[in-house]
Amino acid sequence: MQKDYSSVWDSCLHKIRNSVNEQSFKTWFEPIRPVKLDGSALTIQVPNKFFYEWLEEHYITNLKESIREELGPKARLEYQIRLEADNTINKSAGHHQIGGQGNEKVSPAVKRLVSQGIRNPFVIPGIKKDAIESQLNKTYRFDNFIEGDCNRLARAAGEAVANNPGRTAFNPLFLFGAVGLGKTHLAQAIGNAIVDGPGDVSVRYMTTEKFTNDLIYAIKNNVVGDLVNMYQNVDVLIVDDIQFLANRQKTQEIFYNIFNQIHQNGKQVILTSDKPPKDLPGIEERLISRFKWGLSADLQAPDLETRIAILECKLDDAGLKAPRSVVEYICFNIQNNIRELEGVAAGLIAHSQLANRVVDERLAQEVIQNFVRNASLEITIDKIKRHVSEYYDLPIERMKSKTRKREVVVARQTAMYLCKSMTKQSLKSIGDEFGGRDHSTVIYSCNAVQDLIDTDSSYRETVSELRKKINMSMAG
Ligand code: ADP
Ligand code: MG
Repeated sequence: MQKDYSSVWDSCLHKIRNSVNEQSFKTWFEPIRPVKLDGSALTIQVPNKFFYEWLEEHYITNLKESIREELGPKARLEYQIRLEADNTINKSAGHHQIGGQGNEKVSPAVKRLVSQGIRNPFVIPGIKKDAIESQLNKTYRFDNFIEGDCNRLARAAGEAVANNPGRTAFNPLFLFGAVGLGKTHLAQAIGNAIVDGPGDVSVRYMTTEKFTNDLIYAIKNNVVGDLVNMYQNVDVLIVDDIQFLANRQKTQEIFYNIFNQIHQNGKQVILTSDKPPKDLPGIEERLISRFKWGLSADLQAPDLETRIAILECKLDDAGLKAPRSVVEYICFNIQNNIRELEGVAAGLIAHSQLANRVVDERLAQEVIQNFVRNASLEITIDKIKRHVSEYYDLPIERMKSKTRKREVVVARQTAMYLCKSMTKQSLKSIGDEFGGRDHSTVIYSCNAVQDLIDTDSSYRETVSELRKKINMSMAG
């Protein structure tokens, strides 16, 4: 009894689906159409030659096993390559399904390339060049990119490029640095400055992931040549997170061609990466050597002053006035990632504006703990006692005692005040920790300290210095 080709293929797919990951399945198996079954030879149709080579190279075992299970040990697989000129590629139900998967990850320009057959889809007919889809995010600008020692070179190079794209020695401009340090912000700021500047310069920003998705889509739809050509109209190409090209041979090959085409025409390339070119694993030597042609500039972790300036700028934008001690507390504790700093700012803003919370170290601590994994920032009564006793040069035990000696009373009251304002502890537990005093004594002490802060500037300094010490010790 002869089985029919589509049910045989369906069973094969069923097995393959269990042995490859979902993305690969969608990319490489869903587009395949069974077309014929001749004895034990199954013919499948694939979109193009590259597709066939890829299957043979990567999935031959999966294919072989599944088809043998269906058709016995003599089973054979034959390929049919869809003709390039075949209109059904663009119109058949098959195409529709290909396009339907993960399609939103493909650039609109590339989709138009396929669906409307527009040869240069960055240029929409009848609209002038600045309609080219730059894909930039307008919020990333130079004027909200705070300058510090950590980014001075990269920023200056970026400004030079923005003023003169393709005509400086910084081509490509290769920006690198760890996550959350501003690579995307700076790269986009350059793009936005160019778009807003004089002249009719076309800018195109894309992530490496998008570039790869576009390419896979172009391969499936047989328009790789057109994809490469469409970059002819780009004056400034920005590709973000180029490290993700690692081990993607075909993508690297196409990117190499596009890079050459753009660079040779005196156009500007801007790349970002988490590592400098020489340390990029899994990337062809010829690409690495091109990455080194221009300028590699790194973004480093910002120093304390820069972190404070960035945080204040973000809080200011939201109209939130936070005490300096809170800003410092946050910046002492978040050192290596500006994105985290922003996350904490957003948390503070939400708590204060939506939940009416007072913006103090306690709130900051809570927000940081929710936001930063493994944060161990708890300010404890013990820590405060230790700092205060060190500062006043008094043994901790003395602060708990019943003595009314002036210097001991000041130290004790200061410590209680700091416990009240910097920890989540209740008045009762604070009192317990200071020789079993009751909660009204704690309130009395806090008020006394507050009065002193308001009237005595040198004491105010003392309290602020103590806060700083306690905060700094939290940062390890
Ligand atoms: P990366 O691409 O290096 O991972 P991003 O560019 O996405 O980092 O930056 C993370 C966040 O920090 C962004 O929201 C960005 O606006 C902000 N940021 C980074 N550097 C600065 C800076 N110098 N001034 C102001 N904001 C910054
Ligand atoms: Mg980024």
